[in-house]
Amino acid sequence: MQDTSRCILHPQPETDGFRTLAVPVYRASTIVFPDAAAFAARGDLAPDGYTYGLHGTPTTRMLERSLSDLQGGVWTFLTPSGQAAVVLAMLAVLSAGDTVLIADTVYPPVRQFADLDLVRMGVTVRYFDPLSPEDVARQIDARTRLVWCESPGSNTMEVMDLPAITAIAHRHGALVGCDNTWATALNFKPLRHGVDFVAEALTKFHGGHADLLMGALTLRDEALILPLRNLIGRLGSGVSPDDAALVLRGMETMPLRLAHASAVALRLATRLAGHPAVHRVLHPALPGSPGHDVWLRDFTGSSPLFSVEFTPEATPHVGAALHGLQIFAIGASWGGTRSLLAPQPITGTRTARPWQGAAQILRFSIGLEAEDDLTRDIDRFLDKLTVASADARGANHHPSPQPT
Ligand SMILES: *Cc1c(COP(=O)(O)O)cnc(C)c1O
Repeated sequence: MQDTSRCILHPQPETDGFRTLAVPVYRASTIVFPDAAAFAARGDLAPDGYTYGLHGTPTTRMLERSLSDLQGGVWTFLTPSGQAAVVLAMLAVLSAGDTVLIADTVYPPVRQFADLDLVRMGVTVRYFDPLSPEDVARQIDARTRLVWCESPGSNTMEVMDLPAITAIAHRHGALVGCDNTWATALNFKPLRHGVDFVAEALTKFHGGHADLLMGALTLRDEALILPLRNLIGRLGSGVSPDDAALVLRGMETMPLRLAHASAVALRLATRLAGHPAVHRVLHPALPGSPGHDVWLRDFTGSSPLFSVEFTPEATPHVGAALHGLQIFAIGASWGGTRSLLAPQPITGTRTARPWQGAAQILRFSIGLEAEDDLTRDIDRFLDKLTVASADARGANHHPSPQPT
């Protein structure tokens, strides 16, 4: 079965002769057992057995199985958010005295968790250049338990050479995790490239309607299933079956939504790249974007999320030029039906590979509105930006030095 069909034909749970096409929602805290002996032995059930609402219902199992099938993994755990999926992997693997190597371009809240909480727990945290497997080879040592990747990187979109990084990590006995939220399993399957954990924010494309939060952690190795399941029990971290049903519904249209919005996004990104106020468009499918050659080699498609760096003259006016747009909304997160813009500061969130570009980028998430309406809104923004930059040039007899 192809992935597009997999997203629609969810593995149905056992039922008493009642079958629907809609996803049934099973809610539960208590799960009942036929007798005292079965209750006492519930801890011996296989991980897909039902023991307590926290550990799953038929609805959450359907979603977990769908995601495992799509990723080519042995098991998937659902988490309350994408952030929680990354944190779960790190907590499961790392102990005091261990070292973790993290891509410099990692999702900023993950960086904060590492710098504040992992360090507090006695873990050594080091960042590596996402474009340099050699940097991983240089920094890895016998105490490195985990190498955490995110490809492409948050906001600046560097695509990482995961086969090379995984080979280095495994040679040193370290596990590799990868945040695959941008690509989804439809466009890249990290487990097939040797990665041990793949984390995704289902909040984005899977949910697809900006109305829920969920994450998933999919495993390549069966030996990790039980330790992770038990850790989830100790953390008390579960998801609502109602939300899981919404994610399963969103997944049915995900392949079409993703393909359409990605095609529109690539045309808009190309158009932006030709504008004089634009310094560079960071989109893995565009030549010149960092890691574009790796994207060509490893990925089967792109996503409707990309970033734009403006010229030093235009950058200070980006915020004001966003005022009064008719289609785009301003906000974080992405992957829903509405197109979003998010100005994001980069300076200060890079340490291994100091950021040489504009102090802030503008992140575009293209939704499902008519392409002509989106194009007109972008043109309105670019016109305002051009006027504001020209006015500022006119007012400055001595151009002020630009921060780097
Ligand atoms: C949004 C995002 C997350 C976090 O997802 P939430 O569900 O919002 O916690 C993690 N990684 C990446 C790359 C993201 O874009």
